[in-house]
Amino acid sequence: MGWHVSLIEAARQPGGRARSVALTDTLTMDNGQHILIGAYTRCLQLMQQVGVDAAQLLHRAPLDLRSPDRHGLRMPPASALPAWDVLRAIWQAKGWSPSARLSLLRVAARWQRQGYRCDSGATVLQVCQGLHADILRTLITPLCVSAFNSLPEHTSGQVFLRVIHDALMAQRGGSDALVARVPLGQLLPEPAVHWLQAQGANVRLACRVQGLEPLRASSPNAGWQLQLDDGSLLQVDRVILATPATEAARLLQGMQTHLCEVQHKRYQRWIRLAHSLRWMPIATTYAWCALDDAARLPRMQALAGGPAQFVFSHPEQDGVQPGQRLLAFVASCSELPREAHEQALLEQARAELGLSLLTLIRTLVDKRATFVCSADVQRPPMQILPGLRACGDYVEGDYPATLEGAVRSGLLAAQSLSA
Ligand SMILES: Cc1cc2nc3c(=O)[nH]c(=O)nc-3n(C[C@H](O)[C@H](O)[C@H](O)COP(=O)(O)OP(=O)(O)OC[C@H]3O[C@@H](n4cnc5c(N)ncnc54)[C@H](O)[C@@H]3O)c2cc1C
Repeated sequence: MGWHVSLIEAARQPGGRARSVALTDTLTMDNGQHILIGAYTRCLQLMQQVGVDAAQLLHRAPLDLRSPDRHGLRMPPASALPAWDVLRAIWQAKGWSPSARLSLLRVAARWQRQGYRCDSGATVLQVCQGLHADILRTLITPLCVSAFNSLPEHTSGQVFLRVIHDALMAQRGGSDALVARVPLGQLLPEPAVHWLQAQGANVRLACRVQGLEPLRASSPNAGWQLQLDDGSLLQVDRVILATPATEAARLLQGMQTHLCEVQHKRYQRWIRLAHSLRWMPIATTYAWCALDDAARLPRMQALAGGPAQFVFSHPEQDGVQPGQRLLAFVASCSELPREAHEQALLEQARAELGLSLLTLIRTLVDKRATFVCSADVQRPPMQILPGLRACGDYVEGDYPATLEGAVRSGLLAAQSLSA
């Protein structure tokens, strides 16, 4: 767009919540196992723009939500008719009675008739009224927990229908699951930084923005001054705050400049909304498993019990630990203390997958993994003040806390500055 960009990032490595973490001297994994889906179009386009070969770095397969006993839904390979693929998947799903299948068809037809819209205050449980209990348990709940990190009764029906529409109806392969073959840092953040530098951007890692002031109280549009943690000051025309909500609120609260009453009220409201968000944790447990035992596991396996909902297999790490394969167990909404969590997970792996010899490497818990996208949530808007925008997965938008939501929000914020 012709802007001269400065990117100020507090951490040593780029990526935020979707960053790589060195687990041991020889093993780098992620802050938490992530998946993308085919419908993450903006995210995939951004990867392409910064030179990432997504087809090479992402393992792509039709979404498979079947538990280890093979019950549940598996999408067929994508055809040009997404609605037909959904019908085939429902027809072929094992473990559902005819009345359960019929209830799903009826409810899906209702969503279609209503244009995938509902009352903004409705929960997922409410938009699923009429569904058979087995479908709620084996399809809707796992979908909701994996996409939103919250249970159907706590999740916005409107945002859920948007994701269902984009994943299942809007495009060929929208529901495909894409799992990275490389640590997340190599998938987007590091190529993005190299791309920015090649465009002449000023990228500063390990540098925290400590404070923020408009250059002129009478007109924030005249520019902004950032105070950096090395004591230096940076003057810029526009600012996009791409930090988590609480950090953006901290920066706004620290502003000393007296703005006019209207603008003062505007950013005070923004701060209140940011503080009103609630957060949910995600725990990812990395473990080694004997190659022979792990060989029968697909790349992504849904689980029926708890605490984990999915286990991911990482064959590209074979050889790091001789004879062992790296597994990542993902537990959304998990609030057990770490030791109890790991014990329950070992028990689950034994009971559901027959894996009795796992060597746990580490459990990474991100306590503020995602905001709760509830039916009554009020997300802070992108516009904070003239020349000052917010972007991130929590900002007002159609998507839940996902990579796609964050990328969409960033694009909108950049476009709005140019407008
Ligand atoms: C364990 C886990 C699993 C997840 N799984 C998935 C998944 O499977 N699929 C999916 O789509 N999404 C998943 N997500 C969500 C996804 O990671 C987030 O939605 C996305 O990364 C949010 O990006 P963001 O840019 O909004 O914020 P963040 O990633 O939080 O980035 C904010 C950045 O701001 C920096 N910062 C903060 N304060 C300052 C300051 N004062 N100065 C300078 N820099 C600052 C931080 O260091 C950070 O880099 C998961 C998240 C977690 C934690």
